[in-house]
Amino acid sequence: QKEKRNLIDTMVELLPADKNRLLQTIGHIADEMNVNAFLIGGVVRDLWLHRKNEDIDITIEGDGIAFARAAAKTLGGSLYTHDSFLTAKIVLSSGQHIDIATARAEYYDAPSSLPKVVRSNLREDLYRRDFTINAMAIHLNEASFGTLVDPFGGEKDLTNGKIRVLHNLSFIEDPTRILRALRFEQKFGYILSEDTLRFAKKAEPAIIRLSTDRIKAECTRLFEEVTAVATFQRMYELELLSAFIPFASWSLSSKRMLENLENRASMGNIPDVALFIPLFAFQGQLQHLSRFALTKSENQLLNSFSRLKILNEPTLSSLGSLHENIHDIENTPLLIFEKYVEISKNQDFALLIKEYRKKRHHIPSLLTGDDLRALNLTPGPQYKHYLLRSECLWIEGKISNREEALQWLHSRVK
Ligand code: ATP
Repeated sequence: QKEKRNLIDTMVELLPADKNRLLQTIGHIADEMNVNAFLIGGVVRDLWLHRKNEDIDITIEGDGIAFARAAAKTLGGSLYTHDSFLTAKIVLSSGQHIDIATARAEYYDAPSSLPKVVRSNLREDLYRRDFTINAMAIHLNEASFGTLVDPFGGEKDLTNGKIRVLHNLSFIEDPTRILRALRFEQKFGYILSEDTLRFAKKAEPAIIRLSTDRIKAECTRLFEEVTAVATFQRMYELELLSAFIPFASWSLSSKRMLENLENRASMGNIPDVALFIPLFAFQGQLQHLSRFALTKSENQLLNSFSRLKILNEPTLSSLGSLHENIHDIENTPLLIFEKYVEISKNQDFALLIKEYRKKRHHIPSLLTGDDLRALNLTPGPQYKHYLLRSECLWIEGKISNREEALQWLHSRVK
């Protein structure tokens, strides 16, 4: 039999000394209580890969809650328990969190019902997870401290750079795992195993049943770690783009626009929903995107973009006519529109919008309501008209100061 790998040296190298001591103490408490304790989750994979990760997720073969109670006493932290989930959390005085779970299996009484949770062994606990590379554990009991437990071949998949599900119904059970898979592919430069790819392609009916808010939440999470361009490109390659995002289409134009927007998004300048716009705008399918705009401000953004898109260019051929027609549109949709126009190959129009976007911030208040009152104009819509017109003239360089503005006003109001 192959000798089991021990990761103790890596743990000493990558984890701070206090975390290593903590893990040893957890092993001792487990010995005393005659249960098995394991470090599990992404941290095991990351230790194997020599990547920094200090999450402490513990699984106990035995009563996890009783274990957590004893550990909180020894370590001196506050204990929070979730009895129905068989899990607990200890928050140490240093602020560190330790998540402790009872090794458990989940059973579904009926499809789509909530799973029943029952105490089980480590193997079954790991079997509930998403991919082999995330289904490994490190034994913490003293006699085997640091030993890698790898029942599903995670180590081999890490060596070969493969993302592999644990069973053929995994994506049907939870299609958001496909999005997780895309994240891991990009993050580690890995690739789905052949089987896993086939299962993903067969999961379309389950993907279609996912709610839009879950898809959006998972995409937002993806965009924190990998680019939206890579995500959509890969969804397209897997022929799953329109399953996750109905009516979306992927083209060179969408890709280029998205690349442009993504730089801004990473600076926090535009919200995530904007990253979906390039999937719809070029095919005239924007109305289908509204299902992904769940907040009021996201809806406003989409409405403004749609409004810009239907304005026809001849009416917007000068800075003044731009200001007249779209002065109430916020900067973000305008910026997105500019990127759209740029890709739609109308460079001159894109440059004009860019110039307008910059200039509109510097429009001075050349006239006031008092100036209009002094001319005996009755307050009402015409006030707004004159003030806006004077702004349009300024932005076109036709007037440049208050004097010229007053001159213009007097020539108009006679
Ligand atoms: P990581 O920390 O592994 O980089 P992560 O931030 O996605 O990824 P979590 O979401 O906290 O980690 O998940 C922790 C562990 O729980 C994962 O390693 C994975 O094995 C498991 N897990 C998370 N989501 C799912 C899911 N949808 N299906 C199955 N297992 C999951």
